[in-house]
Amino acid sequence: MTAGNPFRIVDNTDTGPSMATISGPAPRISSLLIKPASAVCNLDCQYCFYLDRDADPYKDLSSRLMPIETLERLVDTFLFYSYPQSTFAFQGGEPTLAGVKFYKKLVEFQKRYGRDGQSVSNALQTNGVLIDKEWCDLFREYSWLIGLSIDGPEEINDLHRFNKAGHGTWKRVMQSLELMQKEKVDFNVLCVLSQANVHKPKEIYKFFKGLGVGYMQFIPLSEFYPDGTPMPFTVNAEEYGRFLCEIFDLWWPDRRSVRVRFLDNLAEAVAGQKPGSCTMHETCDSYVVVEYNGDVYPCDFFVEKHWKLGNLEMDSWQEIARRARRYNFAAKKTIAHPECQVCEYQSICHGGCPKSRHGQHRDFADLDWFCGAYKMIFAKAVGPLKKEVEKITGKSADLTPFHISPY
Ligand code: SF4
Ligand code: SF4
Repeated sequence: MTAGNPFRIVDNTDTGPSMATISGPAPRISSLLIKPASAVCNLDCQYCFYLDRDADPYKDLSSRLMPIETLERLVDTFLFYSYPQSTFAFQGGEPTLAGVKFYKKLVEFQKRYGRDGQSVSNALQTNGVLIDKEWCDLFREYSWLIGLSIDGPEEINDLHRFNKAGHGTWKRVMQSLELMQKEKVDFNVLCVLSQANVHKPKEIYKFFKGLGVGYMQFIPLSEFYPDGTPMPFTVNAEEYGRFLCEIFDLWWPDRRSVRVRFLDNLAEAVAGQKPGSCTMHETCDSYVVVEYNGDVYPCDFFVEKHWKLGNLEMDSWQEIARRARRYNFAAKKTIAHPECQVCEYQSICHGGCPKSRHGQHRDFADLDWFCGAYKMIFAKAVGPLKKEVEKITGKSADLTPFHISPY
């Protein structure tokens, strides 16, 4: 069975008050994605998925910052729950809006509440415009992993990534990138793929490589109008597939020194490991999102009232992990599209991301918007990656056979 979910799922995804829990062992919450400033941002990127989102439960509140008391409770309870390995990832909106003192407090709480033998890791995704030496000192001292958003060279980045005054942000972000390199902060770049850069894989790859960036992440845009028409900057499957295939060719000779997240995840899947990205997991239950006020949700794309799992001030992590809604959400991925049921790549792809199955018609029933892209890159890359894994490990990298059990 693909789901690994032995429970009968009751559909309670309406806006009713259901906070039912399910008895029995729950899949562990392995990491937190924390939004200390909620979806609030100091930039106005044109394609931002968070802006003016009707379903955002907090959209009418202009100021949203996590109180220190909420942060302390979060750290205390999650370190206890997740012992011996605890992962805290910060995202927004823009998480640096919480201020560097907020994160110094975080580290203080982690030291206070962590136990002997506990490994704690921190990561933060930022647009980079507030980063200065004080931030870099904190990131370096505690070995944080930083994700820096930049879409390529200036003329590409500044087509969509604006500040509040409507001006391009590339020059300021490049200052932060150079500062982080100088200060020896461990960082990767997150490049959003839109119509501005999806046709320029060579230019993008060479730009980042030329800067000495060793880890790249590409996120294709897929946003739609309410009638299901793609928004102008949205990337289609063929465009994304071609981009990934060209990146693969560029990356292959550099594969021991440069990392590309999608290809890393694919290599992990081919090697029989659990990939880092939830998109390639069997179910959507590896992490949860924590909002500025302690509210918890199953995924950053579904911070919506009817998916709320609880609040960390009132509920324990064990209770949150067992919410019926969490199972319902996790199971969305296991209801395989007919095309996935007969797909040779199902054991790697697991049907893609429910956000991309839901975006166009809002009912989770579509084939993943990027399915065509996945098939293109899998057809090109799985063979060579399999051989590479076998060469490194000395073991055969057979893909596990798949079997779908639709709910
Ligand atoms: S919906 Fe997509 S992004 Fe969200 S948890 Fe599932 S696979 Fe991950
Ligand atoms: S490649 Fe396409 S058909 Fe195959 S499992 Fe992924 S989404 Fe489904």
